Amino acid sequence: MRNIHQELITKSLSALLIVFVISSCSSSSVLQHPSTKSTLWMQNAAEYRALTTSIYQSATANLGLAIEDSFWSAYDSTNTPNKKPPAVILDIDETVLNNSAFEARMIKKNSSFNPEQWNQWVMEANADAVPGALAFTKRAAKEGITIYYLTNREAKVEEGTRQNLQKLGFPLPEEGDHILSKNERSNWTSVKTERRAYVAKDHRILMLFGDNLNDFLHAEDITQQERYQLVEKNQDKWGRKWFMLPNPTYGSWESALYDFDNSLSPSQIDSAKKAKLDTKQD
Ligand SMILES: [Mg+2]
Repeated sequence: MRNIHQELITKSLSALLIVFVISSCSSSSVLQHPSTKSTLWMQNAAEYRALTTSIYQSATANLGLAIEDSFWSAYDSTNTPNKKPPAVILDIDETVLNNSAFEARMIKKNSSFNPEQWNQWVMEANADAVPGALAFTKRAAKEGITIYYLTNREAKVEEGTRQNLQKLGFPLPEEGDHILSKNERSNWTSVKTERRAYVAKDHRILMLFGDNLNDFLHAEDITQQERYQLVEKNQDKWGRKWFMLPNPTYGSWESALYDFDNSLSPSQIDSAKKAKLDTKQD
């Protein structure tokens, strides 16, 4: 009898140990996932909310001037007044909608981005608003400005995108197409140039909002130095006509670390990233 008890106790202790080892492994792997810290920041930092709110409030403060000045354009420069009706263009992901819950799911599954799971997430229509975006777009709509959402979400999941924006109360007129999705038209590729031109044809674009350089100008697959140069070259627009939202979780900035070379193995990518850590030492 005593032996049976001892055996039971030993077995229970072993089982407990296994559970402890498994749970401590999974919690440490969650913490080691490359997106954990940035995702925690976007989901929990008061500082993130203060920052995005600041950006949208700066834009709101510039709205009156932008409407009044018919030379004001976030798209092109002209010597003649532009009398077309005003519009603003906003990217969606990490500009208007916060998808950090999707990131958190990937971290917990120890996986990385996959288009099928992403489209499922889009169709759930459950992303939160980026703080400040709702107040800005509502105010702009009230001032008679047309809002365009220009996104690299796929056209086939546009219904999910529409539902998500509507659920959160973003201005979305019944008439006309105001969500410009990728592949909605044959020349609407992931490069957003054509879609900006589509809006500019009938509108004066007052402001652009995004979390990626490509949301403002054509900057596909260029080096980090060239990206810096584009930022420098357009210095007069930042914070006045162009508004960049913070996104440390993903983006072209990260692919630029390894020159967009998709032929590299994961360990080569890691080495390239490590080489970018500047210690100011030899
Ligand atoms: Mg985005």
